[in-house]
Amino acid sequence: MNLESIEKNWDMVIVGGGVTGAGIFRESVRNGFKTLLIEQKDFAWGTSSRSSKLVHGGLRYLKEGNFALTRESVKERERLLREAAGLVHPLEFHLPIYKDQNPGVWTMKIGLFIYDLISGKWRHRYYGKNAFLKIEPFVAACGLAGGFAFSDAQVDDARLVLRLIHESERLGGLALNYTRAIRLERDRNKNVCGIVLEDTESRETVCVNTRLVINATGVWAEELQPSPEKHRHLRPLRGSHLVFPKKAIPIETAVSFFSPRDGRQQFAIPWEGAVVLGTTDIDHKEPLCQEPAATRAEIEYLLEGAIRIFPSLRLTLADAVSSFAGVRPVVSEGKVSADQESREHVIWKDRGVVTVTGGKLTTFRILAQDALLAGRDYLPEKRWTAPSEPIFEPWTPEVVSAGLPVETHQKLWGRYGKETSVMLANAPVDHLQGISGTHTIWAELPYAASHEKIRHLDDLLLRRVRIGLLLSEGGRAHLHQIRALCQPVMSWSDAVWDREIDDYLRMWRACYSPCRP
Ligand SMILES: Cc1cc2nc3c(=O)[nH]c(=O)nc-3n(C[C@H](O)[C@H](O)[C@H](O)COP(=O)(O)OP(=O)(O)OC[C@H]3O[C@@H](n4cnc5c(N)ncnc54)[C@H](O)[C@@H]3O)c2cc1C
Repeated sequence: MNLESIEKNWDMVIVGGGVTGAGIFRESVRNGFKTLLIEQKDFAWGTSSRSSKLVHGGLRYLKEGNFALTRESVKERERLLREAAGLVHPLEFHLPIYKDQNPGVWTMKIGLFIYDLISGKWRHRYYGKNAFLKIEPFVAACGLAGGFAFSDAQVDDARLVLRLIHESERLGGLALNYTRAIRLERDRNKNVCGIVLEDTESRETVCVNTRLVINATGVWAEELQPSPEKHRHLRPLRGSHLVFPKKAIPIETAVSFFSPRDGRQQFAIPWEGAVVLGTTDIDHKEPLCQEPAATRAEIEYLLEGAIRIFPSLRLTLADAVSSFAGVRPVVSEGKVSADQESREHVIWKDRGVVTVTGGKLTTFRILAQDALLAGRDYLPEKRWTAPSEPIFEPWTPEVVSAGLPVETHQKLWGRYGKETSVMLANAPVDHLQGISGTHTIWAELPYAASHEKIRHLDDLLLRRVRIGLLLSEGGRAHLHQIRALCQPVMSWSDAVWDREIDDYLRMWRACYSPCRP
């Protein structure tokens, strides 16, 4: 879309197309406000496609005594499990306990008891050594005392963002990717009256009018609006992951364990047909405009933990298919180590700009409500919809076309909502087959290519579908077929396709390959 042609007057402009911006967009449009969302790169390009993909209460916050954050997160988890079927799934964890380990059995028992108490559902169980090895045969047996099973949930993080954005657009909002906020305009009383936007590729600029700007730019938040608190600033903390095919780590359930090097909690999580191993927590010193990447030291750290917990699998780096890294927006006084920093969000207000940063994927709805409340004085008077209204359009088990299993249909609905029927209506039967090693079906590719504002090949392969993370060499072996499927529904010429494939593979090798120089 040409920037010059967009509507010039808005109730609210949201800057940032991650989960925070997308959640605010959803709440704002639902409340009837005329809302524009802009994202400087692709939707979910920032931290929100690079998380550990957990919708969780956060056992770690309990350990730190932060009951309020755990309680809030557990409640949101339960709500998302109810309202986002197909997108947010229950995820069972197994946690082995070793004899010399701290925290030991009793500490974990108390923690998990509180965890269940908060959700009102009794889910955790303790197994003795032999019983635990029966359900988790690959974990190291030496020194094992027993282990716990407990419940959390998981999501496709980028699809969560996209679902929020697409449902808001269907209700009348406008979301533009590759559009950056470059300057706020203020009136003579210093109140915000507009914002200057730039198409990051054509360099076209436009100024639109608005009385409220929501700065939901995560780790970039202080670039648009510096912290009003002299001693509290954003501390970008990188977390990296390694991805293995399921055949290398054949677990059915997530396994949580403690790093042999520093005792930090780690996990191996089955996700979308692969297994994600994570994560690290270190200061990110690289420029924020660059695609973040796991360093060799981080990869060695993650692999060391996996080798120690799954010794019989004889894992090597050659087994991994990809790595990815994200940068946590953490608001800090700089007094504690990275992994002790609070994950709570902050709201800063300044004459028509509301900044909301920090927080978690899990609590995006709470962040959205807090942000809208903070900006209320700048919004036209409206009757607000109750926060208890469902977040997403509910799944309706309509006629499932071409004999698609109900489970697959629900999963597609989780990702695409009502648009699932559009996708399936146009899909020949062979496009309903799954792509081996993933939970993606071929029909998703041409649908996303034609309906989901793709500008570059990495938008399609890393965020609309997750093939770039799940298959070796970023799915290189399938690129020919992907091109054949998508080229007829896109405006890219042969030359553009050639260039996009080269750029994608170069970027993948530099930032997503598990074998770092
Ligand atoms: C390694 C890791 C693991 C995590 N795991 C979990 C987890 O399992 N569960 C959980 O609940 N949370 C998790 N989190 C936290 C969660 O991912 C983040 O809190 C959340 O994604 C932040 O979302 P956001 O929208 O605020 O920021 P982002 O997703 O970074 O979005 C901000 C967006 O703003 C855009 N932007 C910046 N400047 C401009 C501008 N001037 N104009 C336009 N756009 C701009 C950026 O390009 C970016 O896309 C994890 C974080 C990390 C790093």
